Amino acid sequence: MTADIEISNVSKRYGAMTVLEDLSLSIKAREFVVFLGPSGCGKSTLLRMIAGLETVDAGEIAINGARIDHLPPGQRGVAMVFQSYALYPHMTVRDNLAFGLQNIGVSRDVIDARIHEAARILEMSHLLERKPGQLSGGQRQRVAIGRAIVKEPKAFLFDEPLSNLDAALRTRTRIELAQLHQRLQSTMIFVTHDQVEAMTLADRIVVMNNRKIEQIGAPMEIYERPATRFVAGFVGAPAMNFIDVTLDRSGANATAAFAGGISVQTDIDTADLSEGAYTFGIRAEDVRIVASGQGNTDGTVDVLERLGERTLVYARLNDGQQIVGSDAGNSRVAVGDTVGLSFDGRKAHLFDESDRAWHAREG
Ligand code: ADP
Ligand code: MG
Repeated sequence: MTADIEISNVSKRYGAMTVLEDLSLSIKAREFVVFLGPSGCGKSTLLRMIAGLETVDAGEIAINGARIDHLPPGQRGVAMVFQSYALYPHMTVRDNLAFGLQNIGVSRDVIDARIHEAARILEMSHLLERKPGQLSGGQRQRVAIGRAIVKEPKAFLFDEPLSNLDAALRTRTRIELAQLHQRLQSTMIFVTHDQVEAMTLADRIVVMNNRKIEQIGAPMEIYERPATRFVAGFVGAPAMNFIDVTLDRSGANATAAFAGGISVQTDIDTADLSEGAYTFGIRAEDVRIVASGQGNTDGTVDVLERLGERTLVYARLNDGQQIVGSDAGNSRVAVGDTVGLSFDGRKAHLFDESDRAWHAREG
């Protein structure tokens, strides 16, 4: 069972506060879509509107071509999994799984078969007679997912389902969710503020901020060609470096001039760049640490973060700005050293004052 979901010009207000404004989005059948954005940007609200737990103030939501925004939650064919699990503590796992189905009059045989199948998929057959209090956090989350599976929904809606798990379990459950999606071939919408979850799980990421959608795209599209400075800064860790520059637009490719006489030749077409102030953006992996005097500029090392496979080097330029670059895992650099920073202009991004973005020509 699967479904496409069409969200058209949807708005939501709480009293005088507009939480979502004229938002449109098409989700394809079998797609894994992640709503990503900072806390408070309206991700849960949008998900709850699809589920029927919040009303829609303006616009429409349709599933498989039929409008559903006026239907009660139980008639929409979607199942939601919450961060808080929301299990009945006095019921066994089996009864938790059966409860929603009994309420809508599904026969005992069908219920038993679905529970059997869900327990098999989630490898929790041995937990069916336990109560939630006798389960670990990860097992409870599994039951919450199982409760959605037995409903055989056309779409699964997950609201930060991994947030209460410890780091190791979060990574494992993330991989299991990806496998579950492959197996069930259902449409899935997953809400998170964690860009790693979004990058690893999504077919497409919907980046949200400040009442609206900033960008919709495949993970690497968002990473390599962020549509706005917000997206560029929010997706990717560490956050992208941003530097105020003036542009030399006399050649085919723009050259960015920083304070202090530093200039970086980019691979960005000058054709549609206008006059005015620009911000230059570059990711840490595109700023290599080289010997002093050998890069675009020198910097003094403030902080090192050793991540194992690479070392992040936070260096301060003459004008006081801090830039993060990357060096080998076994970097010999020490705090206080003067190092060279080599910017890879082919990976540079430019943002203008109206938040339009430019990227290097496509290879
Ligand atoms: P997110 O899930 O992205 O963290 P939410 O969708 O929960 O954000 O909330 C978006 C905004 O709407 C927040 O400012 C939040 O405080 C507000 N909000 C959410 N639910 C309600 C409500 N029931 N009444 C009033 N304001 C709400
Ligand atoms: Mg939320």
